[in-house]
Amino acid sequence: MADTSRTELNHLGEFGLIERIASRIQLGQASTVKGIGDDAAVIDPEGLHQVITTDMLVQGVHFDLSYMPLKHLGYKAIVVNLSDVYAMNARPRQVVVALAISNRFPVEAIDELYEGMLLACGAYGVDLVGGDTCSSISGLVISVTAIGAAPREALVYRGGAREHDLLVVSGDLGGAYMGLQVLEREKAVFNETGAQPDLVGHDYILERQLKPEARKDVIDLLKKLDVMPTAMIDISDGLASEAIHIARSSALGVRIHDEKLPIDPSTFQTARDFNLDPSTCALNGGEDYELLFTISQADYDKIKGNPSLTVIGHITDKASGYALVDRQGGQHELRAQGWDAFLRKG
Ligand code: ADP
Ligand code: MG
Repeated sequence: MADTSRTELNHLGEFGLIERIASRIQLGQASTVKGIGDDAAVIDPEGLHQVITTDMLVQGVHFDLSYMPLKHLGYKAIVVNLSDVYAMNARPRQVVVALAISNRFPVEAIDELYEGMLLACGAYGVDLVGGDTCSSISGLVISVTAIGAAPREALVYRGGAREHDLLVVSGDLGGAYMGLQVLEREKAVFNETGAQPDLVGHDYILERQLKPEARKDVIDLLKKLDVMPTAMIDISDGLASEAIHIARSSALGVRIHDEKLPIDPSTFQTARDFNLDPSTCALNGGEDYELLFTISQADYDKIKGNPSLTVIGHITDKASGYALVDRQGGQHELRAQGWDAFLRKG
């Protein structure tokens, strides 16, 4: 198969590749003193506390290039890291990106990946200030480190929840998981029959899976409403798992009400079509990148009725454990069945 738009990576070389990446970057953060081009980037903390977080994405474990376009992958690789910074109630300012690339990939593929990464950086006002590039003999590995900042008193940890606090979630849940189910199904059909994927009508859940967003808007909203969460976490592994993280870190219990779970109608319908319980998908499906946080009951009036925020339960004493209340009022143990990154199929 002759492909005229294909440039081999070795033609460019590592320096050529780095120059090509650097030439597309425009720095915007006042706190970025030095970006790509020296032995290390330089950042001015401007008197703030810095927040640093890394996430690694491994081909075949975290993503499948048969349905994940490289541009989307790049966008998502950045967004999942920024989500962790927002979950500290901090503002992301810089990212560094380390890549292990198989020389199977042409230069154009790396261009596409960076297009997605730089699109996300632009959307969230973050500078790409460095990274590392090496070759891989198997698949693609992308490791992103995000650096953010906040005044010390603004930082929100997982362990700050207090008994009787309300448990609040942004947006809706389970969509990214159902998007993945549709993609996996269509891939299986294609592999078996060669039939073209039928993705019609699934726009919302596919976007949730392929182009997630970090909830910067929710951090802005909470500030505007003058609501300071007592504890916060972003939902990457599934609501149940993250709620338990908050409760455990705070040495308390948590109670979630099934009937309160925010589920988009398209997520609900697709779950039904797959013979899955929509609530189970909302509780345990991962990758929604919504924010889960606790607030004092005194702040309830400030968030009441806000379409972006749903109160789904509250914090209890430690002895009450982790509980899920079903629609009939029956109480069950809340279990973290969020997918384990190591068990996921590629
Ligand atoms: P060193 O050998 O000192 O590690 P490199 O040649 O790896 O230097 O990197 C040179 C510059 O290019 C550094 O500023 C580094 O942060 C940047 N860089 C290297 N790889 C990437 C990449 N994949 N994306 C962005 N910047 C990169
Ligand atoms: Mg290096």
